[in-house]
Amino acid sequence: MQVDFLIVGQGLAGSLLAKELLRRGRSVHVVDDRWKSSSSQVAAGLMTPLTGRRFTLTKDYPELFASAQAKLTELGVFRPIQVYRMFVDDEQRAKGLKRTECRSCQPFIERVTSAQGELDVSLTDTFGGALMNGAWVDLPKLLSDVRAELVANGSLTEASFDPPDVVASVEGVSWRQIQAGAIIYCDGYKSAQRGPFKYLPWQPAKGEALTLRTSVDTKPFILNREGWALPLGQGVWRTGTNWQWDQLDEAPTEPQKEKLIRRFRSYFGQEVSVEVTAHIAGVRPCTSDNHPFMGTHPRQPRTHLFGGLGPRGTVWAPEMADEMAAYLCDGTSLRPECNLSRFALLAKIASGWVWTE
Ligand SMILES: Cc1cc2nc3c(=O)[nH]c(=O)nc-3n(C[C@H](O)[C@H](O)[C@H](O)COP(=O)(O)OP(=O)(O)OC[C@H]3O[C@@H](n4cnc5c(N)ncnc54)[C@H](O)[C@@H]3O)c2cc1C
Repeated sequence: MQVDFLIVGQGLAGSLLAKELLRRGRSVHVVDDRWKSSSSQVAAGLMTPLTGRRFTLTKDYPELFASAQAKLTELGVFRPIQVYRMFVDDEQRAKGLKRTECRSCQPFIERVTSAQGELDVSLTDTFGGALMNGAWVDLPKLLSDVRAELVANGSLTEASFDPPDVVASVEGVSWRQIQAGAIIYCDGYKSAQRGPFKYLPWQPAKGEALTLRTSVDTKPFILNREGWALPLGQGVWRTGTNWQWDQLDEAPTEPQKEKLIRRFRSYFGQEVSVEVTAHIAGVRPCTSDNHPFMGTHPRQPRTHLFGGLGPRGTVWAPEMADEMAAYLCDGTSLRPECNLSRFALLAKIASGWVWTE
């Protein structure tokens, strides 16, 4: 079988890139191991505008959010919802109030509360909080819709891919019976562990999440304080998460389960009963400078990467998949802060060139 592009991995990155390439009239074939190490299947897919202890809006968020909203709405997976960030102390509350004066933050902040219970009497928001305009993305639906489309076109192989099995030549690459003009790695944090892009400064981080059946009524907003809780209706909530930089695997753990339940309960002033109906873990493909890794391998012109989406994949992926497809099909430039060529020196060190030049 001859195609333009062989894509490794059908997570958020591989799915959106495949759609963008198909939209441009290119043929693709995707190989995926049935989401065995999928970060996208674990993520709640939240888009939270102001984040971190300092409660900041990153410079690129407004542009990326607008693009994600348009593209993901078209795919039927964009779910607008407000996010209520409960402040942890007076200092954070002062920051929250200050952000309401910042022009670029204003469209994302609906209101800032000043006392416990002002928004909802059941919450333990002692220092008040900020109600933001955010969203979540139905990632399981996105992945299964794209998979169904690929299967219907005979464009998906369910298999475990091993980089040494690829044969590269001047005309392109071949893997099993597939001949492709180029290969694109969209395999999440696995590219940090083996393969041609291992040399990049990845910082993969494991996280866990629970689905709970609870005695808490649904709320019209996501709760956010050192973690999050997403209401799914009828007392069902998804809640997460934590950050762990060792033991990078998909195994859920008991200590994290207990911690996530405790944190969920701490959001409410009254007794809350919970039953865990699902407990999952995944590894975020994070990078040292919090920007995606996109572009072409420095020594293998037919080998590309679209990854490193980190903890905000839903915000980055829609616009970056478009830019990556334009780069591959039309030769347009990638934005420098996302182009993996920013690590050219690391590539040289990894291949030993730096010592011989
Ligand atoms: C606990 C947790 C919470 C998160 N919360 C959010 C959130 O709220 N909002 C947000 O925007 N982002 C969140 N993220 C981050 C988000 O999940 C990622 O940014 C994004 O999903 C990464 O997508 P990806 O396609 O690059 O990687 P992945 O989703 O990991 O996809 C890679 C795919 O490649 C496959 N694969 C890997 N190796 C091979 C191989 N050798 N052969 C065949 N197939 C292979 C995998 O099985 C998988 O299907 C969270 C992540 C975690 C872990």
